[in-house]
Amino acid sequence: MTGEEMHALVERLYPLCRSITGDGVRATLGVVGELLDLAVHEVPTGTQVLDWTIPREWNIRDAWIKNPAGERVVDFRRSNLHVVGYSVPVSATMTLDELRPHLHTLPDQPGLVPYRTSYYAETWGFCLSQDTLDAMGEGPFEVVIDSTLADGHLTYAEHVVPGSGEDEVLISCHVCHPSLANDNLAGIAVATALARRLKEPRHTYRFVFAPGTIGAITWLARNRERTGRIKHGLTLACAGDQGALTYKRSRRGDAPIDRAMAIVLRDRPHTILDFSPYGYDERQYCSPGFDLPVGSLTRTPYAGYPEYHTSGDDLDFVSPQAMADTLETLWSAVEVLERDGRYENLSPYGEPQLGRRGLYGSLGGRSDTKQAQMAMLWVLNLSDGEHSLLDVAGRSGLPFRAVAEAAAALEGAGLLKRVGEGA
Ligand code: ZN
Repeated sequence: MTGEEMHALVERLYPLCRSITGDGVRATLGVVGELLDLAVHEVPTGTQVLDWTIPREWNIRDAWIKNPAGERVVDFRRSNLHVVGYSVPVSATMTLDELRPHLHTLPDQPGLVPYRTSYYAETWGFCLSQDTLDAMGEGPFEVVIDSTLADGHLTYAEHVVPGSGEDEVLISCHVCHPSLANDNLAGIAVATALARRLKEPRHTYRFVFAPGTIGAITWLARNRERTGRIKHGLTLACAGDQGALTYKRSRRGDAPIDRAMAIVLRDRPHTILDFSPYGYDERQYCSPGFDLPVGSLTRTPYAGYPEYHTSGDDLDFVSPQAMADTLETLWSAVEVLERDGRYENLSPYGEPQLGRRGLYGSLGGRSDTKQAQMAMLWVLNLSDGEHSLLDVAGRSGLPFRAVAEAAAALEGAGLLKRVGEGA
């Protein structure tokens, strides 16, 4: 998928009213399911999942605040951000003073509508711009939220790209935010593109599309015995803004995915953050009982931009170029995980004569000759059966791809033998 195709997917998903349960999630997975073979799971209300319980399912058809002239001054049909997620149904006539405790604005960003939810405390509310509130008048207002909160299901989905081995790579995206493009439709789009690009990998790639927190907890509760197979993982979010890439390390801090991301990001603008038990669903995957090697890849991180969780996180806030860049970075990380390995130098006494084997001459004239030669020397020197190609890339400062290509050339010339798995 191109950046434009990913952006088109974001556009299609944008109007759907997602929450942690309900038809918006199902519709979202339906669209993704046109592009990927998805296994959709429905978990009933009341099911115990780790320390949590699946809540009632929330659905909404319409909502508004009408002024005395009968005009919708706040209208769910214009933006689903206008209703606090999980609002219980309401039908009342209220003055502005009565209504005010249920209104949420951003006084410092008066043109923007905030995104608010109240999943676990039964309440209702509207979100609107401060500018709208200031112009509303005193009422009385007709206030309607046509929603239902009833026994139902929590919905999540998985897509699996089978590998030749047992080891798994987990890519997890939250699918619970309504009309917010960067957080996290861009993440969903990039994950979808990555899944479509993988062909017969070594690892099995498991993509989890689940509502934030409760969805990841549900997945963990239902896949406890499988978590031991997860050798690498990433939560993917905020994948389409103009900022530089940010990688947040796993709780372990030095897992192969942490080292792979550091190598991949080394040659481009980026930030690397240490783990903290906040942010996206790495919080759950890295809880101490699981302690999975799962880091977090974003562009501008969680809560790190003024448009975060506001109507400013719209379709113009994410670009095809940024999503394509996130995808290429992920692809480079996949290349590290797929190609890493430990090798043994079969001619370790002195340097083997590379020219005689055509390994110098064949590279003549290429602008990257020097890099390719250095990569061969580093691979030969560190291939003692202990160091992996990722180690070589880390210590030499050379791009992983150059190191992997050197290893392939040396193996082809009979100078190197693969002796074990790497990352
Ligand atoms: Zn969010």
